[in-house]
Amino acid sequence: MSTHNPGFATLAVHAGAQPDPATGARTTPIYQTTSFVFESADHAAALFGLQQFGNIYTRIMNPTQAVLEERVAALEGGAAALAVASGHAAQMLVFHTIMQPGDNFLAARKLYGGSINQFGHAFKNFGWEVRWADPADPASFESQIDERTKGIFIESLANPGGTFVDIAAIAEVAQKNGLPLIVDNTMASPYLLRPLEHGADIVVHSLTKFLGGHGNSMGGMIVDGGTFDWSQSGRYPMLSEPRPEYAGVELHKTFGNIAFAIACRVLGLRDLGPAISPFNAFMILTGIETLPLRMQRHCDNALAAATWLKAHEKVSWVSYSGLEDDPNHALQQQYAPKGSGAVFTFGLKGGYEAGKTFVEGLQMFSHLANIGDTRSLVIHPASTTHRQLSEEQQVAAGAGPDVVRLSIGIEDPADIIADLEQSLAKI
Ligand SMILES: *Cc1c(COP(=O)(O)O)cnc(C)c1O
Repeated sequence: MSTHNPGFATLAVHAGAQPDPATGARTTPIYQTTSFVFESADHAAALFGLQQFGNIYTRIMNPTQAVLEERVAALEGGAAALAVASGHAAQMLVFHTIMQPGDNFLAARKLYGGSINQFGHAFKNFGWEVRWADPADPASFESQIDERTKGIFIESLANPGGTFVDIAAIAEVAQKNGLPLIVDNTMASPYLLRPLEHGADIVVHSLTKFLGGHGNSMGGMIVDGGTFDWSQSGRYPMLSEPRPEYAGVELHKTFGNIAFAIACRVLGLRDLGPAISPFNAFMILTGIETLPLRMQRHCDNALAAATWLKAHEKVSWVSYSGLEDDPNHALQQQYAPKGSGAVFTFGLKGGYEAGKTFVEGLQMFSHLANIGDTRSLVIHPASTTHRQLSEEQQVAAGAGPDVVRLSIGIEDPADIIADLEQSLAKI
């Protein structure tokens, strides 16, 4: 074995994959099967008892999914990973593994809108309480921690405005209080930033966005950093206590630094069921091969578009951390010097009506609720995703009447700017 450590672009193409042992197929095949034949009765018993790793049933594990897991674990620098049906499914399984009814966790107030709903509404039905904190103020997390607190959740590059969070400062609070720090790295991707290097314990992804990258497949990922001590406090019984359904196996004791990923698979995914389809795993694997190329292009194009918009007479402000005078620029330089991502917001002097006119006037941009596609995307939150809120609430959420959100694609930058220009002219 070579001792040379492959670089990021090489891992994006090769990590986890080998020519198919049965056929020699060079591309990872789509193992479109629900179940796998056991070698013997003893083999079956060993698989079911967790004494041996292997494929049983695609709800729990599948060879196409396994390559995707190894690849993302390698790109994030984690110990192991688990692929699931969506980003939301990944979040659900993470909290299912660490929370009991009556427990609470802390989450940054600035998150993807769907996560705010999931934490604030759906999780309430499980008896899990979310406590919101200000991602720019680590003390606002610390002051809400009590004996039933089980974790801290943030986005590395936060929605909706695309602002970098000081991960290391929040990791310090988590570590001091014996809590795992869970970081949603969807908007940055491991190409720009690897949260485990800054003190995160678990990374989650919506693979639906930049990792898949083409707007064609849903997926989610949990990456286990392998560093958190799940047995130290007795606060994580799913990981530290004997599991009756596996003949008394204690997951952390038995599986060490990959215990969290194992628990999410053999308890969470097995019992709650949000498995990724082998086809989607294949599509996302193919997308990841070009992640470094696409992500750099997204960033370069977004910087060009933000710079151009900032100088336009009908634009009142642009929030993009790649701009040198942006208040978030210093954190961007510290955490993600290669670029600031593809997603940013800006304000139109004409307010709500101007926002609607602008969105409708765009020709190449697609008006839809997604980010991280090869195509440039636009949404006017006040007339769509945030329309049920009062104007005051919209402003607090960074979605005031004048706000337009862009997810810049990988087209020619001149064509992106030309489309922005012709639509602004219609206001
Ligand atoms: C889209 C998204 C999610 C949810 O992922 P799904 O794949 O849509 O379930 C979570 N976090 C962020 C930052 C997202 O952009």
